[in-house]
Amino acid sequence: MVIERSHIMGYCNGVSHVIEMAKDCLLLAKEQNLPAYSIGWFIHNPTVVKRFQDAGMRHIDAPEDGPAGIALIRAHGIADPLRDRFEKAGFVLIDGTCGTVAYSQRMIRNADPSVHVVIIGLHGHSEVTALSNVWDEHQQVIAVHVVETTEDVDNLPDFNSDKILLMVQTTFPQLQYEELRKHMQARFVERLQMGNRLCPTTFRRHEAILNLCKIVDAVIVIGGKMSANTTSLVHLVADKGLPVWHVESASQLPPQIFSFPRVGVTAGTSTPPEDIEAVIAALEEGAT
Ligand code: SF4
Repeated sequence: MVIERSHIMGYCNGVSHVIEMAKDCLLLAKEQNLPAYSIGWFIHNPTVVKRFQDAGMRHIDAPEDGPAGIALIRAHGIADPLRDRFEKAGFVLIDGTCGTVAYSQRMIRNADPSVHVVIIGLHGHSEVTALSNVWDEHQQVIAVHVVETTEDVDNLPDFNSDKILLMVQTTFPQLQYEELRKHMQARFVERLQMGNRLCPTTFRRHEAILNLCKIVDAVIVIGGKMSANTTSLVHLVADKGLPVWHVESASQLPPQIFSFPRVGVTAGTSTPPEDIEAVIAALEEGAT
């Protein structure tokens, strides 16, 4: 079996940044003899999260979940009202929000109040939650509409003759994004203003996996099952009609994979290099 690696896979800048912030959070908590927390999963990868949990970082969702301490904001950002609640409860916050997501939040915060904000994104995704809970200057949450399907777009109100700012969850699957963007343009025409874009990191990964699909017989995608960008890689491969498996670790490799002559490997943006190498080593070992 020949193993072909995608030429872009694994950590993006935002994930590398929040991992450094997580180390700082643990260090500061130790120095100040305070508990260390992450607010939600700071990235969608169970191996990395567990490593930090083992080092003493506790996962909480609200300030009531534990005594005040040092708390890490995840790469996907945090809702403004929740940030405020943590600060008022005496927590010191270490901001691991990816710069690309922080830019999207600023764009919503600075939008003209007469503009209606529509976000293309997955309902309930933590980045979408952060973008849906941005405060204006009066500490009021700016109303947004989240659309995930063309039916959601059809069900949007007409917004009278007002302008609409179109935002997107930075890791939303590219093909669906293009479809929804065109649907929005067809419905709202010149009233539509384009806001942020997909994260270029995600875009380049999508291009790389599509190129890989041209030369392999099956694909292994490595990454957390909760990771939206990893799942979108799986969908891209499946759309090309190739057999594809989403694994979090080498132990989840399916036995059938060893029957394919050429296997492609890619990984989501929150997959650590050691997980990628372990899967590739297991593929190499099983192929001999
Ligand atoms: S995928 Fe892009 S937006 Fe998301 S954390 Fe990585 S760099 Fe930031």
